[in-house]
Amino acid sequence: MSEKHDQEYIKNKNRILVLGKIRKHRPVSRVELAKLTDMSATAIGRIVGDLIEAGLVKETDQYSTGVGRKATMLDLDGHAIVSVGVEVDRDWVRIGLVDLEDRIFARSETRLDRSLTGSEHVEATIENGVRALFGERGIDFAQCIGVGIGMPGVIDQRTRTVVFSAQMGWSNVSVAKRLEERLGVPVMLDNDLKVKALGESETADAADKGVTVLISIGSGVGSAVVIDGRIYRGASNIAGEIGHSTVDPNGKLCECGKRGCLQTYITDLAMLQEANQIKQVDSVEELYGYMRKGEGWAANIVDRACTYIAITINNVVCTYNPDSIILTGNFIDLDPDIMDRVRGKLKEFIWEPFVGTFELTRSRLGDQAVLLGSAKLALQTYLSNGLQAKIQS
Ligand SMILES: [Zn+2]
Repeated sequence: MSEKHDQEYIKNKNRILVLGKIRKHRPVSRVELAKLTDMSATAIGRIVGDLIEAGLVKETDQYSTGVGRKATMLDLDGHAIVSVGVEVDRDWVRIGLVDLEDRIFARSETRLDRSLTGSEHVEATIENGVRALFGERGIDFAQCIGVGIGMPGVIDQRTRTVVFSAQMGWSNVSVAKRLEERLGVPVMLDNDLKVKALGESETADAADKGVTVLISIGSGVGSAVVIDGRIYRGASNIAGEIGHSTVDPNGKLCECGKRGCLQTYITDLAMLQEANQIKQVDSVEELYGYMRKGEGWAANIVDRACTYIAITINNVVCTYNPDSIILTGNFIDLDPDIMDRVRGKLKEFIWEPFVGTFELTRSRLGDQAVLLGSAKLALQTYLSNGLQAKIQS
């Protein structure tokens, strides 16, 4: 790394830090910012100047009323910039316009035509959808600093390519680059679970320390980790793919060819296969229905799933020592009592030194999480690229 590159890197990192503190403590004075960040008054003055010039921060006419000098307060410049979050699934595309305060202020959902299997239909749907939302709100598209897309599959986020997505039926598709050409703004791409974790993480503005792990249990099993406001990716952006972690070497055969993978125990399909040995059951919702009616076999299947979820949580806690674990997915969302069931099991499976070290919750953002997380990814990229929105053509 050259010295110039080094300095640029530190400068961008400090900008993100200062903006994060303003987001958290606003309105806030320059003096307070210097204390909060351990930076000199000169450094804060320069960084705040950059942020004001970029339209991210504004001076307000509020003054601190304490004894001594009055200070100009700083606040976010709410709608000065807009980042766009996109969630793509097999059947639909969701788009949200997000302001600096992490609020979705406009959103849309469009069904995809499944007879058109290529990526062009999806790219056109996103482009038209994004332009339509800016148009409807009367916002100049020049205020768009970038687009983030979250979609299921293995994503190479450096080349912004879909390496493989079973849900979309794609392999090696450069969807982000083509959208960038269509829209003329930077387009980021990542796995949906990873951006969801970024959206849910309270530390996602990089101003705080912390480890958040999101675990999803539904049609598949997966997890994603956010450390100090950044998605943890591992060597090839597949860190957290716990579905194929081995639970029992003598267990059931998995689609991957190995035996006893976690996903042979706690996916929708695994539970329905189990249930159908007793009775025809077509959905997890139906399975929960039988459990509530007092059918012992249904309660046993759910109970066993909760055991494996508790084991998974213990393994995740031993690996990452997180302060926050969020459970999400079909299996979690459909049962109001599921968190109590899992907590009950956890007492049995959590290793003692980790008791009380983390908070276990449901998703707090629901169907907004992927939109907010992918918009956050676009914002993080904008800030770390030195506040240059438009791509170099
Ligand atoms: Zn497997």
